Amino acid sequence: SITRVLANKYSPSGAPSLDNFKVMSAPAPTKDSLKENQVLVRSLYLSVDPYQRGRLIGTTNSYVPRYELNKPISNHGVAVVEASASADVAEGDIVYIRGAPWETKSVVDVAAVRKLPTGTIDNARDFVTVFGMPSFTAFVGLTTIGKPKAGETILVSSASGAVGQIVVQLAKARGLRVVGVAGSEDKIELVKSIGADTAFNYKTSDNFVASIKQAAPEGIDIYFDNVGGEFLDAALANINTGARIVSCGMISQYNAKSADEAYGLKNTFNILTKTATFQGILVGKYYGTPTEDEFMAEVGKLYKEGKLQYRIDETTGLENAPQAILNLFDGKNFGKSVVKV
Ligand code: NDP
Repeated sequence: SITRVLANKYSPSGAPSLDNFKVMSAPAPTKDSLKENQVLVRSLYLSVDPYQRGRLIGTTNSYVPRYELNKPISNHGVAVVEASASADVAEGDIVYIRGAPWETKSVVDVAAVRKLPTGTIDNARDFVTVFGMPSFTAFVGLTTIGKPKAGETILVSSASGAVGQIVVQLAKARGLRVVGVAGSEDKIELVKSIGADTAFNYKTSDNFVASIKQAAPEGIDIYFDNVGGEFLDAALANINTGARIVSCGMISQYNAKSADEAYGLKNTFNILTKTATFQGILVGKYYGTPTEDEFMAEVGKLYKEGKLQYRIDETTGLENAPQAILNLFDGKNFGKSVVKV
């Protein structure tokens, strides 16, 4: 039999809980059940990402479709092909799956899989970690909206996370002064060790505006925002003329019970007076574009040369995967969250 993680209920507001998921076993799919252009895969690694919370809100007007109740939830994953009814992939191939069902074994359409280079088994995890979606997001946000120039100062929130770690290192490699922010002393140590010039723990700060000013007395040229809310507001109070704000994520607001409870920004006038650019990014728009090749060229090269570090928070066992999603909202993950199935 196989293990599956189903969406059990939606939570429009408030913190998600284990009750949002149902972990169950089911009969294993067999190769005889394959239809043309389907493949039977065994999951190896699944990415765990904050946007999955949004798929459990239950609205139909989000930028990503909601999970269907009583169906397996899904996310980016890497799997090994056990049987194939397609000429494109063969048994033993390692594949990347954009909407991999959270099942230990699945039947998926070949259109959803991308064959990874032969020999990938030893570094299969890289494709949902250092070369995964959040890393690509970091690259896209930094290069297309951040437009970094040597000598500038960048502020990065959730700097020890999946996106943040890459932003810190790519910005440092481009000659910026990097200021990192994270939620524990261990995380601050990591952020400094991978290249931040300074970093502080926002959880022990009693005044975000003053803490940012202290860390960056010269002001902020780029703010790479992973958290939104009050911290974003404080960053806006510290921007320089011509600043770019990369609106990547607002994790501090994902569980807001209603629009009334979401944090209301106060310092937006600074966007005008500092002639700043405030732009959102959705990484999905960049798949299959030349930016993806640029990303793999730069990040792949740095990683191969040992010049890029990537801390990973690995959970073992699909049955423990729902807790890994919840951990993101308590800051319990330390590094890119991934499930070893
Ligand atoms: P992380 O690995 O950074 O994990 C989430 C972290 O967020 C936690 O560890 C915690 O770190 C921090 N956090 C949780 N709650 C709060 C809070 N209330 N206030 C401040 N920080 C909090 O996740 P990712 O790197 O995968 O994602 C980072 C952001 O980027 C998210 O907002 C995500 O939605 C967004 N994103 C956007 C994409 C896009 O296309 N726009 C694509 C991918 C990600 P700490 O201990 O430091 O508080």
